[in-house]
Amino acid sequence: MSKRFYFDHNATTPVRPEVVEAMLPWYTERFGNASSIHSYGREAHDALEESRAKIAALIGAEPDEVVFTGCGTESDNIALAGVLTSAGKDKNGLVTTSIEHSAVLNTGRVLAERGYPAAFVGVDSRGVVDLDALRGAVGPGTALVSVMHANNETGVIQPIREAARLAHENGALFHTDAVQTGGKVPINVREMGIDLLSLSAHKLNAPKGFGVLYVRKGVEIVPLTYGGHHEFSIRPGTENVAGAVGFAAALELAVRDMDTETRTLSALRDRLEAAILERVPDVMVNGGDADRLPGTSNISFPGVDGEALLLSLDREGIALSTGSACTIGEVEPSHVLLAMGVSPRTATSSLRFSMGWGTTEEGVDHILAVLPPIVERLRSISGGIAGVCPGTMAESS
Ligand code: PLP
Repeated sequence: MSKRFYFDHNATTPVRPEVVEAMLPWYTERFGNASSIHSYGREAHDALEESRAKIAALIGAEPDEVVFTGCGTESDNIALAGVLTSAGKDKNGLVTTSIEHSAVLNTGRVLAERGYPAAFVGVDSRGVVDLDALRGAVGPGTALVSVMHANNETGVIQPIREAARLAHENGALFHTDAVQTGGKVPINVREMGIDLLSLSAHKLNAPKGFGVLYVRKGVEIVPLTYGGHHEFSIRPGTENVAGAVGFAAALELAVRDMDTETRTLSALRDRLEAAILERVPDVMVNGGDADRLPGTSNISFPGVDGEALLLSLDREGIALSTGSACTIGEVEPSHVLLAMGVSPRTATSSLRFSMGWGTTEEGVDHILAVLPPIVERLRSISGGIAGVCPGTMAESS
């Protein structure tokens, strides 16, 4: 197979070899159930608690505030539904933003259908949450404010300290979905005024299927599932010891390397953006004026169908994504770009380049070599091929 370059680190990441190595014994010779009383159980229990303590220290929390879950989506669900259902009848509202990941957006929508009022606050043209609108939406009936730490599509970092302050001034709790910032941006839950925080292992070079929910001591949560007393009865079920060990190892490595990675990825992103802006006419960087994650770049190529561009780049060995969702042959523009005021047509011409551990200059060079002629070719095809989804190419070409 010819060389491939991965530019989709916000979707998922490779597991670092050090993480695999740390996890392996917990699948093989040290496979015990952390609840068992014998030596196998005791060593599994110790590994679980050591991992919990490590993770807690890395985010400024206490060990008994760290709950292990099955993924970032589950952490978001437990945070939102758990807080709202434990709230009283007069204070059971949710205020969140229109650019959240579906793990928060759809949970908020379902809760609204079940009678918990939800408000979705907009963002400005840079993709930053509108704090005045947030202030207007939060009131005495608000139980929880949830604002993501950084957006997965644009990488734009949100003013969560201010949002947390606003929540607390109104007697509400504050949750942040930090799935895209864990290990990339410094996090200290105490200093930042965070009551609940979601993380996901597969976004920080650990395996898929493991998440963390930080729950500040004293915050009441009604569990979504029932069983034994695992994970403080918030998330019952036999614990994923290897997952916890892997998460702790990956977070430790990411925090250790954060400064160097930030410098490397920012430089790669800036070079990629500057060269694309120079070589491809009429493109725009979405969220380019805001504070962003170091390795994320969202670029619109008006006149080009984003899916067609993605597939052409894939044929050249470049893997990335669009923010658009394809449903039964139709492309739905990204809700994040729409919320920023980008037109639906321009939104469907957008690509997300996301870099991370292992991204090289060689990959950026390859994109810069193949992208401009592809955009030119696609733009020259009269009327473009807007609205094409993978799998439906044959019908329209
Ligand atoms: N929140 C954000 C911001 C994300 O980017 C993602 C994954 O794309 C999730 C939540 C869901 O995490 P998981 O894939 O672990 O369920």
